[in-house]
Amino acid sequence: MNIAEYKGVFVFAEQREGEIQRVSLELIGKGREIAEKLGETVTAVILGNNIKDKTNTLIHYGADKVLYVDDPALDIYMTEPYAKALAQVINSEKPEIFLIGATTIGRDLAPRVSARIHTGLTADCTGLDIDEESKNLLMTRPAFGGNIMATIVCGDHRPQMSTVRPGVMPLFEKDENREGVVEEVKVKFSKEDRNVEILEVVKEVKQKINIEEANVLVSGGRGIGDPERFEILKQLADSLEGQVSASRAVVDAGWIDRDHQVGQTGKTVRPDLYVACGISGAIQHLAGMEESGFIVAINKDAGAPIFEVADVGIVGDLNKVIPLLVEELAAAKE
Ligand code: FAD
Repeated sequence: MNIAEYKGVFVFAEQREGEIQRVSLELIGKGREIAEKLGETVTAVILGNNIKDKTNTLIHYGADKVLYVDDPALDIYMTEPYAKALAQVINSEKPEIFLIGATTIGRDLAPRVSARIHTGLTADCTGLDIDEESKNLLMTRPAFGGNIMATIVCGDHRPQMSTVRPGVMPLFEKDENREGVVEEVKVKFSKEDRNVEILEVVKEVKQKINIEEANVLVSGGRGIGDPERFEILKQLADSLEGQVSASRAVVDAGWIDRDHQVGQTGKTVRPDLYVACGISGAIQHLAGMEESGFIVAINKDAGAPIFEVADVGIVGDLNKVIPLLVEELAAAKE
């Protein structure tokens, strides 16, 4: 493999029912930063059926070029046709770096593609950078159950492939005047590319909690005392038009579903406002929320480490502080 032939940062733009997933836009933004360090460009690759009209959005969020494969075979995600199309694009375009969101689809697709094109894959990354000397991609992810952060390089193979957790990278500011190149790629699909048939798509009935997309999070920790107390957190979240999230301690205790967990082994969030209630601020929790826009911490222990990252710290019993906040917010709205 002549690695010098491989150029550019590519991002898989995942869409579901035509809706581009936010993580893909985050990766285009991160891709821009990396591409600028390398003096290269960002290309987004979108696969689907009737998706040409989505290509401009990808340019507005930072892509220089968009390659799209439009085919009925790509209507609903299936591993085989998607892997075939992506492998074809990579083999012909020879990107230096290929980034994919670590969603359920990305986690299925990326290893399949990397095996097909004989390169390495670093899954579930939380950090990406360029090594100044070698210009290799530095891919950082929690390892050994989250006890260490490992930085991995793929020095001898191209592209350097990585899946990246949603919510870790900031969005590039949308610019509707940005212009770029859009090109169609034709892929021939045959019957053999479909070794499964989708008979029916059943959507999960349970309301899907997506704390990564909330602008405001009111997060509860062990200090809330018992699971029923999430109700007062919910009231505060409602008055701030936000959602409830949690530390791992209360998730492990079974007080709330794992979808709500913030932190190194949970979700990485970056809301405009994060209100930490009865959370001590362990390093593994901070890893998931310290990039939030504005952090308010309520804790009865003035020495709790959460206060070190808080913009506003309230030392007090959350059972008293939260109802007062809810009252004040209601009064302010009147
Ligand atoms: P505690 O540390 O017990 O803190 C409770 C806080 O509540 C205390 O500061 C206390 O002063 C305060 N308090 C008590 N009563 C009140 C009251 N009435 N009013 C106000 N304040 C009150 N943790 C995560 O959150 N997310 C992760 O993803 C995660 N991953 C991990 C991965 C690994 C490999 C390991 C080893 C640990 C991980 N942890 C994670 C666990 C982490 O180390 C902490 O144990 C956990 O975050 C503690 O949760 P907590 O802050 O809710 O509880």
